[in-house]
Amino acid sequence: MSDPALPATMRAMLLELPGKPLRLAELPVPRPGADEVLIRLEACGVCRTDLHVVDGELPDPKLPLVPGHEAVGRVAALGRGVARFRPGDRVGVPWLGWTCGQCAYCRSGRENLCERPLFTGYTRDGGYAEYMVADARYVFPVPGHYGAAEAAPLLCAGLIGYRSLKMAHDPQRPDAAGALGLYGFGAAAHIVAQLARHQGWRLFAFVKPGDRAALEFARMLGAEWAGGSDERPPVALDAAIIYAPVGALVPAALRALAPGGRLVCAGIHMSDIPSFPYDILWHERSVHSVANLTRADGDEFLALAPLVPVVTTVETLPLEQANEALARLRDGRLTGAAVLTMGL
Ligand SMILES: [Zn+2]
Ligand SMILES: [Zn+2]
Repeated sequence: MSDPALPATMRAMLLELPGKPLRLAELPVPRPGADEVLIRLEACGVCRTDLHVVDGELPDPKLPLVPGHEAVGRVAALGRGVARFRPGDRVGVPWLGWTCGQCAYCRSGRENLCERPLFTGYTRDGGYAEYMVADARYVFPVPGHYGAAEAAPLLCAGLIGYRSLKMAHDPQRPDAAGALGLYGFGAAAHIVAQLARHQGWRLFAFVKPGDRAALEFARMLGAEWAGGSDERPPVALDAAIIYAPVGALVPAALRALAPGGRLVCAGIHMSDIPSFPYDILWHERSVHSVANLTRADGDEFLALAPLVPVVTTVETLPLEQANEALARLRDGRLTGAAVLTMGL
């Protein structure tokens, strides 16, 4: 495929070595292979996982790498065999970039656990750029309800948030929504809070002790109680989800759970969990982790989001300020989600 309307080169923020800042680079505009689409990007969210990739906390990234897995833009060209989209369609690219379709996990509806996956902005190039290619089978149509920057956090914070909230439900009582604690009130929690309220959960928010802006934000999004992560909520929780990458929150959250309560760790990376006495786990409390997403999660969540409606709070920065966006996320200097915009 060659299209004279496409430029030869694009701007991208490039990770050359973990632990080093990203570098603004001029790269060739990629061309879509079979089953791929080329997307002219409008916005890309900045996720905590990007920070783990850039800081070298996740093993074996593709290098050099264009990070970013909350990418929104318009289809600019189709590779061979793509019938799902047309040029101009607005699409979003999530973390799950490709799966093998053959392993036991793929064949049992658990492609999120695929043995040979590719991940956007980690083991294949992502969305901190003006263009990217993605496998069309893993790309989602973006609801028309949202602007590009507002849609970007739905692609990971929203999607992983949705999966973590599903996991917080007791499978023996799927319709029961009780008291839910959210630890770490950032991009994912601000979306999950809205979904949870929509499903009838009572909301309890835990923030970094002393973070007054986060307390305010949590109350604004419907938390009936908001406090420091070192505090105990006024009622025992039926479920809790941890979004902060802090292992010490696991025993703290277990202590806040009612008997039978479920604790979900939603991040890809966490500091070590300190040892804790068995009696805070006993009484059928449980601890789960969430890994990646399935395409079914994405279809369900993106159909639900405009109905709630989920409203995202974003802080936009131009593409070339990706290092600043990452620094703000690292230091907790954000309300809601950081999103890079391409200004095309
Ligand atoms: Zn597989
Ligand atoms: Zn993410």
